[in-house]
Amino acid sequence: MKVLVINAGSSSLKYQLIDVDSGEVIAKGLCERIGIDGSMLTYKPEGKGKFEFKKDMKDHTDAIRMVLDALVDPEIGVVKSMDEIDAVGHRLVHGGEKFNKSVIITDELIKEMEVLTPLAPLHNPANLMGVRACQAIMPNTPMVGVFDTAFHQTMPPRAFLYGLPYEAYKEHMVRRYGFHGTSHMYVSQRALTKLDMPKEDTRIITCHLGNGSSISAIKGGKCIDTSMGLTPLEGVPMGTRCGDMDPAIVTYLMERLNLDKKGIDNYLNKKSGVLGISGVSSDFRDLEEAANNGNERAQLALDTFCYKVKKYIGAYAAALGGVDAIVFTAGVGENDRGVREKVLTGLEYLGVDVDFEYNRTCPRGEEVELSKANSRVKVFVIPTDEEMMIARDTAALTAK
Ligand code: ADP
Repeated sequence: MKVLVINAGSSSLKYQLIDVDSGEVIAKGLCERIGIDGSMLTYKPEGKGKFEFKKDMKDHTDAIRMVLDALVDPEIGVVKSMDEIDAVGHRLVHGGEKFNKSVIITDELIKEMEVLTPLAPLHNPANLMGVRACQAIMPNTPMVGVFDTAFHQTMPPRAFLYGLPYEAYKEHMVRRYGFHGTSHMYVSQRALTKLDMPKEDTRIITCHLGNGSSISAIKGGKCIDTSMGLTPLEGVPMGTRCGDMDPAIVTYLMERLNLDKKGIDNYLNKKSGVLGISGVSSDFRDLEEAANNGNERAQLALDTFCYKVKKYIGAYAAALGGVDAIVFTAGVGENDRGVREKVLTGLEYLGVDVDFEYNRTCPRGEEVELSKANSRVKVFVIPTDEEMMIARDTAALTAK
């Protein structure tokens, strides 16, 4: 069964065509600058190289049309016709409390997503543009929505409530939802297969560290807590997002810096995090390089980030009543050996015994175990694969 996985942002659209039975990615790529001058499609059919097409895409429908044209192209295409695409799986960011698993996309679901738009004003409308574009061009192909928030819906109220008047939750939907759920689910399921113990006893901490970062506590395969909140701004400091802070800072800075709502939103989402602390970059590769060249603020940004990740691990070990495995994933977690070393140093009290030499030399892009054979807590690097999860869920829900 072939599933087209779509991850639509406001001006970009990532896609993968996956053969779910073989697990093979048949083609993948990206549409950039949709609705902006200089639109471009990148198309990578498996084993046939990489192609770039510069052509105006005025909206997401144009983008999807270009993707499909490439997929069925007689020379560089990977399928003979659109009919070979059995279903489309869409990454949807915010499913609120309504969705705790993936669902077939219907008109009713789209209406529900619109109700949730205030919770994700940038992401949900962009996701829906991707859905509508596919519906327009592939009206007979079944579509499934896979929510970033769904995996976290097992959190108990004591974990998802804020210390606010209860009506903020009941009337205004204010609670912790968590994000990156598909990734936390995927890597925790992979970790489960590596732990020699009954699933219901397992206590796993997953660290999704990328441009956006979140950490989850997973007991018996179910999420019991996660670091992102009502929005992806909460938790550890990220590339450009501030993470946890005293909420009074919001009004304080609005006054001091004469910022309006948009201004403070931009400050906390786009100018903060490791970019804000370092003044160098949001990219951890740049931070490592600058720190190695003696840039103290780049070093401070890395130290702050790692310290906060370590604090979450400690908090979640307490929440879980101990820990059996710690997993690193996403761009930083999979690649940044320095970050992993800093986070893992000093966790011996938890029963973590890491082979730091191996952490420095282990291969990239594959699942590896960093802990020593006798370590009470296993430490893994597991490359995330959200697209494969989306494709599998889509296939499961649409298989005839
Ligand atoms: P997103 O949240 O956008 O999905 P990713 O999970 O792809 O982000 O992570 C992107 C980040 O991963 C980059 O900003 C960069 O900081 C980091 N990264 C990628 N490769 C490396 C590397 N070799 N060393 C350190 N950091 C890396």
